Amino acid sequence: MATRRSFALALLAATAMGGLAPSPAAAQGELVLYCSVQEEWCRPMAQAFERATGIKVAMTRKSSGETYAQIKAEAANPRGDVWWGGTGDPHLQAAEENLTEPYKSAKLGELLPWAVKQAEQSGFKTVGIYAGALGFSFNKEQIARKKLPEPKCWADLAKPEYKDEVQVADPNSSGTAYTKVATLIQLFGEDKAFELMKAMHKNINQYTKSGAAPARAAATGESLIGITFLHDAVTQAVSGAPVQIVAPCEGTGYEIGSMSIIKGAKNMENAKKFYDFALTPEAQRIALSAKSYQVPSNKASEVPKESPNLSEIKLIDYNFAKYGSSAERTRILQKWDAEVRNAPRR
Ligand code: PLP
Repeated sequence: MATRRSFALALLAATAMGGLAPSPAAAQGELVLYCSVQEEWCRPMAQAFERATGIKVAMTRKSSGETYAQIKAEAANPRGDVWWGGTGDPHLQAAEENLTEPYKSAKLGELLPWAVKQAEQSGFKTVGIYAGALGFSFNKEQIARKKLPEPKCWADLAKPEYKDEVQVADPNSSGTAYTKVATLIQLFGEDKAFELMKAMHKNINQYTKSGAAPARAAATGESLIGITFLHDAVTQAVSGAPVQIVAPCEGTGYEIGSMSIIKGAKNMENAKKFYDFALTPEAQRIALSAKSYQVPSNKASEVPKESPNLSEIKLIDYNFAKYGSSAERTRILQKWDAEVRNAPRR
């Protein structure tokens, strides 16, 4: 409990320290950005960096697990410079596998403790840029029309009455979905978690590639329930979707969204400039234009009023060192493929 409380307090703590605005400059070459948040946030972030520095950004958006796999596949001839966003576990795996470059930004001192810890435990090969808790949302109109009970707990999502009514991403491509698998293991123990996921599998209407997609599906009613980060469901709610957001009754895990410089980056100096820029409150505020409501990592960044209040959520003490390790993430994904994805649905 102490850890839960201190994490929540750390997230809420903000000091008056301000971030330095990057100075505009003449054209300074280019930057290849691999972006793992939503396209709606990737684009304005790339544009703001271009405006501030004159550096031309070539951006590609892919989910966290997909980007990790791409960086690994390109390791002999790296094509990307910076990997910005996405859940922390695959960033930690990339760090352990020496796919990313250590960098001690001068901005580290401006960050909240959980963001700095992410940097320290990776040998400064990654850093926390935002945090958010996992959960689910459901479509209130659909649930009333179908006369189904409102789910409140992880265990509810395995009940037969929700057959074909639940959507979640594939943990191989999606960091969100991997966070879900690791969260259930930490909450229930590995055997029970896999039993739960096999039972839930009967209710899954689709394993999507992208982690936030199930929140959109719940918003439109395409799926009754979507498992995502809570802030992804808030994005739908603020746009007027009839969704109820649920922090599961048993407790839940959270992510430390991260950023890494790719080892052997062709535009290393520009990669470091982007890294410094992304840690400023000015850059972190761009999230709002994309209706992204994570908790930002700079102490001077304002926490959006729409962000789920993490101090009110029963958060587990998520073991990033274990679940972000290469051996464990690889083992868990293989086990999920073998035992859950291929489990019978009837
Ligand atoms: N988009 C947003 C808004 C997120 O908060 C996260 C989490 O880091 C992601 C995307 C990652 O997406 P995925 O689960 O597709 O890897």
